[in-house]
Amino acid sequence: MNSGQSIRPHDWQRLADRIKATGLAVTPSVPLAELTTFRIGGPAGLLCPVENAESARRFLDIASTEGLPWTCLGGGSNILADDAGYDGLVLLVRARNLDVAGDTVRIGAGWDFDTLVAETLRLGLTGLEFASGIPGTVGGALVGNAGCYGREIGEFLVDATVLRTDGSVDRLGPEDFEFAYRTTALKERGDVVLDLVLKLDRGDLDAAGRERQEHLDDRRRKHPWDIPCAGSYFKNLPPAAPGEWRRAAGRLLEESGAKTMREGNAEVFEKHANIIVNRGGATSGDVLILADRMREAVRRRFGEELEEEVRHLATPRANRDPAVD
Ligand SMILES: Cc1cc2nc3c(=O)[nH]c(=O)nc-3n(C[C@H](O)[C@H](O)[C@H](O)COP(=O)(O)OP(=O)(O)OC[C@H]3O[C@@H](n4cnc5c(N)ncnc54)[C@H](O)[C@@H]3O)c2cc1C
Repeated sequence: MNSGQSIRPHDWQRLADRIKATGLAVTPSVPLAELTTFRIGGPAGLLCPVENAESARRFLDIASTEGLPWTCLGGGSNILADDAGYDGLVLLVRARNLDVAGDTVRIGAGWDFDTLVAETLRLGLTGLEFASGIPGTVGGALVGNAGCYGREIGEFLVDATVLRTDGSVDRLGPEDFEFAYRTTALKERGDVVLDLVLKLDRGDLDAAGRERQEHLDDRRRKHPWDIPCAGSYFKNLPPAAPGEWRRAAGRLLEESGAKTMREGNAEVFEKHANIIVNRGGATSGDVLILADRMREAVRRRFGEELEEEVRHLATPRANRDPAVD
């Protein structure tokens, strides 16, 4: 995937023209700030939205022929994109098919997760209401095993169509995903989810609708609803004893004094110490320095090591232009 080649900005347009001739729609130099909920990040070399396995496979062929790094984005809601951008190809999964059979749904990984929650309730299917208000796509949620209130999307998976990094397309079941807290084996490998089948229930629709509304209200009260951010910055810590809940990173951060921290235009959210908000014009550098200070405060106060949940998206070192590195 990563050949050590670097490509200068003016070459992206030429490459875009060549790729367009193969039938793939690509756009050069799109600011990652426009593709991420943090609203931070320099340009992606080439952006390529794909709707099906065939075009995803073609995308991967091109990345490998050109020897360019590539990555995949969904809704960009768990991403800190680097100010220097991403000197490579960015695949945007946009598949939005939806088929219902009994209590299972087959859906394109590009569906907005919260819209899917509302749509499945409309279709009389319950189960996903716990996830009301989680931003991003269903594909991003599945590879990150998104969850809240003690539930996770991985619990519902029957199987998924996946483009592997070697270019093969397979249907994989839950055992292949190896669901864990906010991660999966697929996320670690960089495989791309194209569509998935979820098994839902035909439970009490009124109760599910009420639960959805409560979660949405709760998020509006506690989360930075209209302020750019990427959700919880750090993962919660493992439980102190077997059978107990994970220890909330937000509580440790709050007790370590993180709530008043600010670096440049990045600030810890006043209602939730594990969320960094972009107060306007924050850079990835601001966020990384602030995150280091937050981690250090917890290390000093509790001797615990916080691990990022948000992914820092940057050009792999081998592909960076030495002139700007
Ligand atoms: C306000 C706010 C609240 C949030 N609350 C929660 C919460 O309660 N629970 C929770 O779990 N998360 C939460 N998040 C984090 C985020 O919304 C989830 O992690 C979400 O599932 C990420 O989906 P995405 O499509 O935006 O992925 P992106 O941010 O685009 O990508 C995240 C990772 O997934 C990979 N990826 C994306 N799409 C695919 C795909 N189709 N195939 C393979 N890999 C893919 C990317 O390469 C990247 O590594 C919150 C975020 C915000 C901003």
